[in-house]
Amino acid sequence: MRKLSFSLLFPLIFGAIALAEEHHHAEAKAAPKVASTPAANHAAKAVAPASAAAHGSHGAPAVQGPDAAQALNILMQGNQRFINDLMDKGHKNSDRRIEIAKGQHPIAIVVCCSDSRVPPEQVFDVGLGDIFVVRVAGNVLDSIGMGSIEYAAAHLNVQLVVVLGHERCGAVTAAISGDPAPAHVLAIVEAIQQNLAGTTPAAGDAVDQAVCFNASAVARQVSSSAPILKDLVTAGTLKVVAARYDLDEGTVKLLP
Ligand SMILES: [Zn+2]
Repeated sequence: MRKLSFSLLFPLIFGAIALAEEHHHAEAKAAPKVASTPAANHAAKAVAPASAAAHGSHGAPAVQGPDAAQALNILMQGNQRFINDLMDKGHKNSDRRIEIAKGQHPIAIVVCCSDSRVPPEQVFDVGLGDIFVVRVAGNVLDSIGMGSIEYAAAHLNVQLVVVLGHERCGAVTAAISGDPAPAHVLAIVEAIQQNLAGTTPAAGDAVDQAVCFNASAVARQVSSSAPILKDLVTAGTLKVVAARYDLDEGTVKLLP
């Protein structure tokens, strides 16, 4: 009964969001259509919808981008360019802005920390419309964050979620410090502490271990979120990975 009513409501809810987006765009003055010129070796080829295969589930539109493995490869290649100061100009200009003004087809969802040193578009060297970002201190998720992921996964057909923790995260440091957290910071600290419950740090950098535990816990939280995300993972159309960003090196490494 619950499932039936949800499956009926889902396309209505996300359809309403999509309609609101279309209405918004319709009000804007129509911009001239300019073909994008994606730079060589960039994600653009894979970012463009590869086919118009019908999605079928949850009433999502029939647009299919790269699968999870392809998307992860694009992000990791971008990270290599970032590390080596070879960042691409593709997807960071007015052509791309105009190209995507009327609709988005991001290749990945990135859940990351608000920390100013970890801007995901730069870390993965991607541009406008390439990644759907849920960004909050400590890369934790509440219902609003989870709903954002559901929208991107089920309605925009994004097949990859990357939960990105980072070295020397202040929110994680606060969570393991035991110090009292003020005002709304408490909610962040408590969410991280909940993610760390039952974990035992080994010898070494306790903060760094907690960063990895926290990112992995959030990734599991996404994978097991019923009904939408769990169903997509079970169906093989959504992959969730956790990763750690190294502030010194600029590297993103997947966690086991
Ligand atoms: Zn952080």
